[in-house]
Amino acid sequence: MVKNRKPIIAGNWKMYKTASEALTFVRELQSAVSGNEDVEVVVCPPFNALVPVVEALRGIGIAVGAQNVHWEEQGAFTGEISPGMLKDAGCRYVIIGHSERRQFFGETDANVNRKVKAVLQHDLTPVMCVGELLSEREDGITEKVVRDQIEAGLEGLTPGQVAGMVIAYEPVWAIGTGKTASDADAQQVIGFIRGLVSKLFGEETAAQVRIQYGGSVKPQNTASLMAQPDIDGALVGGASLDVESFTGIIKAAAGN
Ligand code: PEP
Repeated sequence: MVKNRKPIIAGNWKMYKTASEALTFVRELQSAVSGNEDVEVVVCPPFNALVPVVEALRGIGIAVGAQNVHWEEQGAFTGEISPGMLKDAGCRYVIIGHSERRQFFGETDANVNRKVKAVLQHDLTPVMCVGELLSEREDGITEKVVRDQIEAGLEGLTPGQVAGMVIAYEPVWAIGTGKTASDADAQQVIGFIRGLVSKLFGEETAAQVRIQYGGSVKPQNTASLMAQPDIDGALVGGASLDVESFTGIIKAAAGN
């Protein structure tokens, strides 16, 4: 089946890589994926490396994203960064509500919603993460958990805003564990999310919004995940830290 949404492969580097390591990485990545037009590629370095990476990738066709943001424009919020600052640094995407933010830093659905609205105001694209814990999957409440996260995270947005964003379905038990959701399980939840977006914002919005899968994506499991009708790319943690494996994922998503 032909999808008319461009797949998006984003690397979430978490708290890894100095600025000089990041520069070495993107120079190698750039030559490894040059000529690729079929897949949108994004790297999300830690804050220290954002500006040098943006500069190194200028005009190259690989976008840069941040891993977190505050919802306020500025103020006495020690350790935080604002949407305007990320825009000024040259970011195009911002990961919001990653499960590590939810688990270790108390991120709530209400905060996720504030952040999504704030970055949209600055013409940045949110990559909003949702996903269930292992215990929630075992209790059979995956759809309920994901529904609550989607409804709260997208609350108050317009259909046009939702259509332009990226949603990442990342089952928490699959992140950094080496356990990938099966193609069928990933498709089932992502299809459910698309159906929910259709109910909340209309069919046209649901047909446009890109929904990634994330959780132990590697070159070997990418093609079959991407072949699922509702999966439009991947948010990649561990395997995005190595040029060879990240390139393998990009090529597999492009069908090469
Ligand atoms: C992530 O951090 O978003 C992620 C999916 O990590 P990993 O690919 O390592 O499971």
